Amino acid sequence: MLSPAVENLVAQLTRLPGIGTRTAQRLAFHLLSIPKEEALALAGAIAEVKERVRFCAECGNLTEEELCGICSDARRDRSVICVVEQPVDVVSVERTHEYRGLYHVLGGALSPLDGVDPGDLRIGGLLERVARGGVDEVVLATNPTMTGEATAGYIADRLRDRVTVTRLASGLPVGGDLEYADEVTLGRALAGRRPA
Ligand SMILES: [Zn+2]
Repeated sequence: MLSPAVENLVAQLTRLPGIGTRTAQRLAFHLLSIPKEEALALAGAIAEVKERVRFCAECGNLTEEELCGICSDARRDRSVICVVEQPVDVVSVERTHEYRGLYHVLGGALSPLDGVDPGDLRIGGLLERVARGGVDEVVLATNPTMTGEATAGYIADRLRDRVTVTRLASGLPVGGDLEYADEVTLGRALAGRRPA
């Protein structure tokens, strides 16, 4: 019904999370209706992040350099590492202004049913960072979901006899993702963290 090019754009948009066919069509028509420069600015922004952004060699956060802004910030407390699932969770924890330590971004959560095993996450890198010394506490801030809890348990078992391991206090909406928790709730969960 539409031109092949429009059909292709709709198909590409449908692959984005949370975008169904109707929304994809609406976005496609919107892109067709705006000035060419505006649409190309969006295409350019996508190309630019894919070109320039990579994972921090130390913590797995997003960066355009070898190390991310947090790892290379001398004012951060290097004795604490907060473990999160995704780079977006770093943003959530930073927004609370309750945390001054470093991070470790796993890149997901353990989910044997989906084929996500420890080897698929940056768990080895975390164990190495702790083994290098200088770390007093690891805060497990994975999502309060089944996979997030399983991941926290797995990591706690591997670190407990080497370093203090804590978990965010309850109070976070169970089954929800960290990124949807408001900063007051997340800040409280962080301040009230308990042994894992
Ligand atoms: Zn980093």
